[in-house]
Amino acid sequence: MAKLSNYINGQWVNSYSDETLDVKNPASQEVIAKVPQGSVQDVQKAAEAAAKAFPEWRNVPAHRRVQYLFKLKTLLEDNIDDISRTIVLESGKTFGEAKAEMQRAIENVENACGIPTMMQGTFSEDIARGVDEFMIRQPVGVCACIAPFNFPGMIPFWFLPYALACGNTYIIKPSEKVPLTMTKVVQLMEQLDLPAGVVNLVNGTKEVVDGILQHPAIRAISFVGSSNIARYVYSQGALYGKRVQAQGGAKNPVLVLPDADIEMTSQIITDSVYGCAGQRCLAASTIITVGEHKQITESLVEAAKNRTTGFGLDEASLMGPVITPESKNRVEQLIQQSVKDGGKLLVDGSNAKVSGYESGNFILPTIIEDTPLDSLVTQTEIFGPVMSLIHLKDVDEAINFINNGPYGNAACIFTSSGASARKFRHDADAGNIGINIGVAAPMAQFPFSGWKDSFFGDLHGQGMHSVEFFTQTKVVIERWLKEWTRKF
Ligand code: NAD
Repeated sequence: MAKLSNYINGQWVNSYSDETLDVKNPASQEVIAKVPQGSVQDVQKAAEAAAKAFPEWRNVPAHRRVQYLFKLKTLLEDNIDDISRTIVLESGKTFGEAKAEMQRAIENVENACGIPTMMQGTFSEDIARGVDEFMIRQPVGVCACIAPFNFPGMIPFWFLPYALACGNTYIIKPSEKVPLTMTKVVQLMEQLDLPAGVVNLVNGTKEVVDGILQHPAIRAISFVGSSNIARYVYSQGALYGKRVQAQGGAKNPVLVLPDADIEMTSQIITDSVYGCAGQRCLAASTIITVGEHKQITESLVEAAKNRTTGFGLDEASLMGPVITPESKNRVEQLIQQSVKDGGKLLVDGSNAKVSGYESGNFILPTIIEDTPLDSLVTQTEIFGPVMSLIHLKDVDEAINFINNGPYGNAACIFTSSGASARKFRHDADAGNIGINIGVAAPMAQFPFSGWKDSFFGDLHGQGMHSVEFFTQTKVVIERWLKEWTRKF
């Protein structure tokens, strides 16, 4: 089986590392590619190419740079089915989920096409007699992203289009678990005829990440992944003098009030908890009810039992497997632990077998009720199709519980009371709030606003934050006195 290559300076080249990892279809365990573990020399070559391409690329006017993005949008749209199939094969999600993530990738390309306006500066005339002051934005140089496995197509596009449009050159480091999608996308991007070195792809694991953190030419890093690695990347990046935006893990609570529309709430929560097999950083994870909860509990149990799980390319599948056997094992151990800790298994999805895909990493939808608030399962990011259902006294107790958790990626409320919703949005310590929404995923024009252990840095991905992250400001003060005007 062919080993995947890196894309450096406009060429597909072999990694300096001979070590490889198997890329497997999570639904079958079939090996579908071999990915190099990567080496620091791969990063050096990519950084050199990107640094060499930078001076020319930054001088291409912004409105010319975005012409490449207009073409990229069409290219991604024309190939969305093909890319989505690759996403399914290596990540396990369903075809519909894969297409939806590519749609969000495309939205980010569209949004970045507005860079000529978005990166405009500001001007103050006459700050003193004959003196004007203005601020312009210039690109920072070589930038890189380090991506996780769960959105192989979308997450690099939270950053790449903005970085390029602002005049930076780029290195993509996909997750070694799902390297095929970005390989395919970069193969397609060759049709754009970008100058060599503007976009580079380096496959690999920790050695490549450390190479990116330490290379002096790389000025800014966008990381998305688990909180421990996000904290590591953020602190190491700072040590080596780089800008870093590092998005981490999550444990997203959803508060259901007795006045919520039960049917709609149950449907939306079910989609949020089990979509992408629970492997979404915005997945609802802990469902909190206050007051009467019999009806919503019954409705959630029924919806969980009826969710069809299977191979992502089968049309009937609403949920695929988790990413690896280790991940399946870890989630099933957490389920067992939750029962030892006093939780009641209302729906148990452990030991699942899907016909035709007996070796797949499947876990069926699971619901655990009344897990103690300080137990492992209530506090840990599960990243699998598991719902903790807890019942609290009132809204204040619920908000207190939410705000005491370590993460702050998202928090949602279901209610028909505007006042309760307002209190929640004001008081909940999370950066993305959903009101009668299950996955509070910001559109491309808004920042992806994680808080607390879900984000390390200050400027988030997407929207205007991206423009600030991918540019540095330059302030110019100039004096031109009227009496110096030449008479011709
Ligand atoms: P991960 O942290 O294991 O890996 C992310 C990246 O870091 C990969 O490219 C990987 O190669 C690299 N990496 C892994 N171990 C490393 C190490 N020891 N040193 C240096 N680099 C290392 O994350 P994952 O399992 O791929 O993704 C799932 C996690 O990502 C979840 O915690 C999820 O919540 C989080 N996530 C967060 C967001 C967000 O927006 N906050 C979005 C998507 C995923």
